[in-house]
Amino acid sequence: MKEITPKASVLVTGASGYIASWIVKYLLEGGYTVHATVRNKSKTVKIDHLLKMQANYPNQLKFFEADLLKKGTFEAAMQGCELVIHTASPFKTKVKDAQKELIQPALDGTINVLDTVNKTSSVKRVVLTSSVVAIYGDAVDMENTAKGTFTEEHWNSTSNANHQPYPYSKTVAERKAWEMTDNQKNWDLVVINPGFVLGPSLSNRKDSTSTDFMCSMLGGDFKTGTPALVFGVVDVRDVAKAHVLAGTIPTAKGRHILSASSYSMLELADFLRKNYGDRKLPKKELPKFLIYMAGPLTAGLSWKYINKNVGYPLLFDNSYSIKDLGIQYREIETTLNDQAAQLIKDKLV
Ligand code: NAP
Repeated sequence: MKEITPKASVLVTGASGYIASWIVKYLLEGGYTVHATVRNKSKTVKIDHLLKMQANYPNQLKFFEADLLKKGTFEAAMQGCELVIHTASPFKTKVKDAQKELIQPALDGTINVLDTVNKTSSVKRVVLTSSVVAIYGDAVDMENTAKGTFTEEHWNSTSNANHQPYPYSKTVAERKAWEMTDNQKNWDLVVINPGFVLGPSLSNRKDSTSTDFMCSMLGGDFKTGTPALVFGVVDVRDVAKAHVLAGTIPTAKGRHILSASSYSMLELADFLRKNYGDRKLPKKELPKFLIYMAGPLTAGLSWKYINKNVGYPLLFDNSYSIKDLGIQYREIETTLNDQAAQLIKDKLV
């Protein structure tokens, strides 16, 4: 059981990202000092929102440069930190070289962070941002679960570098993190496994997959119809809060599925239609044969992916996150409406 001192220093890797920016905000509000790693401090477009936070919380937010692939890159940033929140990892669905663009940064980055944790005596706890995709690979895998739902006991055993490389990258990184945790006794690991994260962004960046998805939805990219795909969906603010709670509740332990509920893409469009009916939102699901024909060309979906995911239900048991961390999930309407409002305000759609 590891207790973090109030107002301790906390390292957040990939601090400029969509989820991490909310984590930084909540840590600053909680009085913690944040050591934020970013790839390039001079790229102010990426960190403009964090610079504004820095001005609002004088002396509480410090920037450090770090790249997941550079050994020892986190050493300076980790000095004096009691808690490390490791969020940095590429989240992309379309890649040319999965090994280079996804698997290597996810896995080597995790090893890199934890090697430095092993050398930094002040660190008591590490919170790792994993994903539900480290729990399952394809929706069809749910047929093999005992209770017809995914829980923290399940591990993704069906993804590889060629099929579902992003889920594979998250799976190998999380497995490595548990292995490295088991080899020492100085710090403990708590893992957050979010579903598809939606909700407002603190930056006006468009390059996060979550933001890009909502821009596509509101921008009319799915106006002819959606594939029958289901996601476990969770609000970015709930995910960020969960990271802070996972880091600061002394008894917090293990993996945590974070998913408010599961929704198909069409159901998400139906929720948005109530307030954003003037947008070209989809009104129907496309037949699977059409997805087979168009998916590989238009959306980069492989036939194997379509075969094992389109048309299948997907359920997650979120009860452990409520029990262990006390998470209270926001309503999906709040998540979607707040995100749509932010994207419109920031002129991203
Ligand atoms: P994001 O906005 O794209 O953030 C990714 C972060 O990782 C960025 O800060 C990025 O830095 C950093 N990064 C990527 N490659 C790096 C490298 N080589 N060296 C250093 N930093 C690097 O995505 P996000 O949605 O917030 O994702 C954050 C974490 O949540 C990831 O671990 C992702 O797998 C996980 N997750 C996301 C979702 C979701 O639906 N969004 C769901 C489950 C889990 P730059 O700012 O320099 O680009």
